Amino acid sequence: MKKFVYGLSEGNKDMKDLLGGKGANLAEMHNMGLPVPPSFTITTDACKAYLEQGSEPEELSAQIDEYIAKIEDENGKKLGDPSDPLLVSVRSGAKFSMPGMMETVLNIGLNDASVVGLSKVTGNDRFAWDSYRRLLQMFGKTVLDIEGEKFEDVMDEAKSAKGTTSDLDLDAADFARIVERFKGIIKDETGKDFPQDSKEQLLEAMRAVFRSWNSERAILYRRQERIPADLGTAVNVCSMVFGNLGMESGTGVAFTRDPASGQQGVYGDYLQNAQGEDVVAGIRNTMSLADMERVDKAAYDELMGIMSTLEAHYKDLCDIEFTVQNKKLWMLQTRVGKRTAEAAFKIACQLVDEGKISEAEALQRVTGDQLVNLMFPKFDAKAEKKRIARGMNASPGAAVGQICFSSPDAVLAVNEGKKVILVRRETNPDDLSGMMAAQGILTSRGGKTSHAAVVARGMGKTCVCGAEELDIDVRARTMTLKDGTVLRAGAVISIDGTTGEVYTGEVPVVDPPVVQYFEGTLSEADIAADELVRAVDRIMKIADKTRRLRVRSNADTPEDAARARRFGAQGIGLCRTEHMFLGDRRPLVERLILAESDEEKAAALGSLAPLQKADFVEILQAMDGLPVTIRLLDPPLHEFLPSQVEMAAAHAVAQAKGHDLEADQKKIMAAVERMHEQNPMLGLRGVRLGLVIRGLFEMQARAILEAAAERRQAGGDPKPEIMIPLVGAVQELEIMRDAITKVAAQVSAETGVDLTDVPIGTMIELPRAAITAGEIAEAAEFFSFGTNDLTQTTWGFSRDDVEGSFFSNYIERGIFGVSPFETLDQGGVGRLVKLAAEAGRQTRPELHLGVCGEHGGDPQSIHFFDTVGLDYVSCSPFRVPVARLEAGRSSGTAEGSDFR
Ligand code: ADP
Ligand code: MG
Ligand code: MG
Repeated sequence: MKKFVYGLSEGNKDMKDLLGGKGANLAEMHNMGLPVPPSFTITTDACKAYLEQGSEPEELSAQIDEYIAKIEDENGKKLGDPSDPLLVSVRSGAKFSMPGMMETVLNIGLNDASVVGLSKVTGNDRFAWDSYRRLLQMFGKTVLDIEGEKFEDVMDEAKSAKGTTSDLDLDAADFARIVERFKGIIKDETGKDFPQDSKEQLLEAMRAVFRSWNSERAILYRRQERIPADLGTAVNVCSMVFGNLGMESGTGVAFTRDPASGQQGVYGDYLQNAQGEDVVAGIRNTMSLADMERVDKAAYDELMGIMSTLEAHYKDLCDIEFTVQNKKLWMLQTRVGKRTAEAAFKIACQLVDEGKISEAEALQRVTGDQLVNLMFPKFDAKAEKKRIARGMNASPGAAVGQICFSSPDAVLAVNEGKKVILVRRETNPDDLSGMMAAQGILTSRGGKTSHAAVVARGMGKTCVCGAEELDIDVRARTMTLKDGTVLRAGAVISIDGTTGEVYTGEVPVVDPPVVQYFEGTLSEADIAADELVRAVDRIMKIADKTRRLRVRSNADTPEDAARARRFGAQGIGLCRTEHMFLGDRRPLVERLILAESDEEKAAALGSLAPLQKADFVEILQAMDGLPVTIRLLDPPLHEFLPSQVEMAAAHAVAQAKGHDLEADQKKIMAAVERMHEQNPMLGLRGVRLGLVIRGLFEMQARAILEAAAERRQAGGDPKPEIMIPLVGAVQELEIMRDAITKVAAQVSAETGVDLTDVPIGTMIELPRAAITAGEIAEAAEFFSFGTNDLTQTTWGFSRDDVEGSFFSNYIERGIFGVSPFETLDQGGVGRLVKLAAEAGRQTRPELHLGVCGEHGGDPQSIHFFDTVGLDYVSCSPFRVPVARLEAGRSSGTAEGSDFR
């Protein structure tokens, strides 16, 4: 016979799969000798069976009886006994705490007879009838699915009949009348009477908990969080203890440390004469835990003792729910508590200092996301500021700018060198250009999954959404505040995406101390004085010591390269060359594109070459001694020409004025038309450019190699690597490789510096490249996975088109928990990466492997890249510390940390 019910002494904290989080921790506390009311747990297996068959397993009822008998013995009372009833609560508890699960039903075991018994033994009429009406209300609402308002209306009527608004003014007779009316509601709504049989009440509540596993909210949450749908929930049945027996009773919540700052001390709230959620529901003012010492010293002292026992045992911050019944303390729940990013770092180090955890464990107590959180720019806390609204903190950061009410306005203003905040009621895909241009986005509608929120988070842009106090009139270009003040386009505002607050005027922005620390601008004394910075410093050192993966940065300029280096980058994984063809070099590129003869082409390339070389000299200097992977030109050339629309407009203007375009304008226009592509992303770009525009890649390779020679001659240690983008077939790579090898031989001969060992490799960013990676490795000394393009080409969607248009829809409906551009899609794109890494290494065991897509800075993706055995990840300079931390955490877990 399968065991579906566990007593407290039969469980422990590691049995969350079977007993749920709540049940496992109740058992753990019991076994530690802490005062937990007699309880038992019905397993997730019972839930799974119920959901499969539509009814509970046959043997369950008898097992429940057996455990009811046990807790009856322990309490010396019988469930539903008319003279002195044992009451129980029925509580849901899945492995992960999840929204959408059924709320707890208290006071099961009361009925028309036992309510009288309860009032006699407690000598408290009011308490007994209040408890019964609470049962009817909770049972009606959560088990029988009756609209909660129906019950609340009755409560309100009863109160107004007495001329009061507080429950406390209702007496036993009032509650007895309310009980009658509640029973009537249940009969009317379900056609059945409220079950008087206690066992039936318990079973009905249990079934409702089981069913709530498949509530719409729970399903959506699981889909988004990728929680498996087949875990099921456990059900905890706990003997009731009463915090509402008078002023010597009460209920409370507590933390063993401050979950906001990490400070050690006494944190929590207590409410006398209260039950269940009263303490968090805000019905009366609670007292701080410190004040509880005054009203009930003995229970308080016991609680303090228990808190330190729990910390010593769980070796972490715990949160706690407790109840005091007539001065006796009972523990109702504990778990390892949630905390802020700041607290996470501080607590991890405190626990090491207290000898509770090892350094390796400390590394597992913090996350890259928490580190990111500590690195967002902040508004200067000391600055004076005037808040005008509060919305949802949709995407963190602090942004200041002039109000712009439309995307075109925003783009225009930014082109004029202004900083703007895009202000809309809500955004839609047409706003993408404005969102990209803006410092931040503010909307008056929509929640955390609105278009604005999703897209802003994807872009890493500050966003406050759903600031409903603001009346935004996009046509009139005005934003009216609650107090009637009207702000017009151009007015400066500041938005805080971390808190959701909106201010008028410019609030000064500061780098948070953690960024100053990475920048190296803090003195030893500054570091010593700041507990948070000290903690970050310590954890980063542990991570660096632990990690196998190396961390490089994507950087196109010497400034970025230098910053990346300060942040701990061990080289550049991607140095793009396209921006080197913009600005005042654009005419040179135009000349190259328009060149008709080989001489003209050679001349155009010749004028670009020295400029390119100078670019590379500086970058190689900034990264002296560390590898720099330089990618040859990738985007389609027409990106360097005016757009077709611009040209057509110029043409129309010229014609309207009665003259024609100048001759070279005409040539450009013809070229634009000739080169126009329907799908530029899939057109003439990457290695295809190098093959078609003869001499282009050779020129770039020569510039790189000459720069390296110059650096070497100057006593430097340049380590360039030449990377060819968008290869799909080994033949493409072979042709380019031969050409570049020739150039290397020439430059070596010319300069006397041997450059023939400069590595030549390729990006893997097309499914075909991944699938034929074994062949490609014959011509490549390294692979760098371009996971942005690989995601686009694997899914067959272009990021610019889909992120703004339907991603929010996909996320709301749970198709993605998170955008595959943010976190690598392991099941699809990740499989290609793994396949290519393995095939490549089979051909060439020493093949060097890295990743340069944005996923290189994403925590979850980094763990994946580590498991697949890549040599390094490369990410934006700002993300380098995150990647170092997560690479450390990944190696740490591989060694088998026992945390949680
Ligand atoms: P949640 O999962 O929302 O935290 P709980 O099952 O912890 O829900 O129940 C909410 C509250 O109900 C508890 O914090 C506690 O105050 C009260 N409660 C639950 N079971 C009992 C019980 N057996 N005796 C007294 N109060 C209880
Ligand atoms: Mg709880
Ligand atoms: Mg690419």
